Amino acid sequence: MDTLETLIEFSRKYGADPELVNAGGGNTSAKQDGIMYIKCSGTALKDASEASFAKMDLEKLYHIFERRYPEGDREREAAVLADMMACRVPGEEHKRPSVETLLHALFRQKYVLHLHPALVNGLTCSRGGEAEAGRLLGDEVAWVPACRPGYTLALLMHEKMKAAGSPLGVVLLENHGVFFAADTPGELDRMLSDMTEKLAGCIREFPQTGDGGAEPGYGEKLAKLSGCEYFCYNGSTTARAFAASLEAAKDLLTPFNPDQVVYCGPGAEYVDDVDRVRAIRKKTVLVRGAGLYTFGRTEKEARNALLLAEDAMKIAVYSRSFGGPRHLPEELVEFLVHWEAESYRKAL
Ligand SMILES: [Zn+2]
Repeated sequence: MDTLETLIEFSRKYGADPELVNAGGGNTSAKQDGIMYIKCSGTALKDASEASFAKMDLEKLYHIFERRYPEGDREREAAVLADMMACRVPGEEHKRPSVETLLHALFRQKYVLHLHPALVNGLTCSRGGEAEAGRLLGDEVAWVPACRPGYTLALLMHEKMKAAGSPLGVVLLENHGVFFAADTPGELDRMLSDMTEKLAGCIREFPQTGDGGAEPGYGEKLAKLSGCEYFCYNGSTTARAFAASLEAAKDLLTPFNPDQVVYCGPGAEYVDDVDRVRAIRKKTVLVRGAGLYTFGRTEKEARNALLLAEDAMKIAVYSRSFGGPRHLPEELVEFLVHWEAESYRKAL
C-alpha cells in the first residue's frame, strides 16, 4: 500500500469512531519526498478519499516559522493563511488545507494523527489535567496550554519541540485534543490504545449518553423559538442528569473546546419551564425533566450540534476523575467566534 492509501485507510478507521472525533473535527497527514498530504478543512475524517487531502510543499511550510507577522489577530491570521495557501503544490489551488497544517508539519515522523477523543479531552479539559498527564503518561508526552489556535498554537508547539530536543511523538493540547506521530500506522494504533487504556483505568464515573428514549414533544416549539427548522434530542440518563437543575447544567453552559464553539455555538442554555420560555438564543438547550436539545437551520447542522453536545457531556463526566472541569477561557471563545478559519469550517 502506498503512503496516500495508508493515510486514507487510517483516517477512515479513526474517523468512524464517535468516541475519537466528530463532524469535521480532527485531521491526519503523511509526509513523502518533501510533500505533506494534509486533510482539507471541514471535511470529515470518516469520509476520507484522495480528494480530502491537499498536497503541501514542506520546505515552504517550514519557512513560515522564520517569518515575522503583524501583531493584530485579523492581520496576522490573514497573512499566515495567505502564506500557507502559497505552500500548496501546483494543481492543488482549489483545496483549503486544515487550520492545523502547521502543527502537522512540525512533526518529523511520517504519519500524524490528530484527534479530539472524549476520554482524552476529559483530561485536557480538567483542572488537574497537566499534573495528571505527567503522572499517568510520563514526561515524553508534551502538554501545550490552551492558546489561540492557528499560528499562535503552531509557534508554541514549535518552541516545545525545540525545547524537547528529540522528536515528540505525543502532544496533548489543553482544551482541544491530542497529536500522535509515528512512522507506521501500527505505531499510531499502539500509542492511541496505550493512552486510552491508561486514562480509562482512572475513570471513576462513566457517561451514559446513548439510548435517549422518546422525545417528550417540546422539540418543535423550542426549535421555532430558536429560529431553526430542525432539532435533535438526547434524553439519556446523563443528559437528564445535566438537565435536572441550573446547578446540574452549569458544566455544559460554557464550551470545553473549539469544536463545540464551531458546531454548537459559544455555550448552551438552560430552560426551567418549557411553557414559559419565550426565546431560545443558543443552539444547545438543556430542558429540565427532558434532557438535551440541539437546533439547526438544516438537519445536518442540528445533528452535528448534537454530536458535539454529546461529546461535551462525556468530557464533563470524565473530567470529574481528573479534578473537575476546566472550560475554554472566555477570550479564546471570543477569538474562535470571530476567526475566519473556523467560520470556513463551519460553513462546510
Ligand atoms: Zn483539533
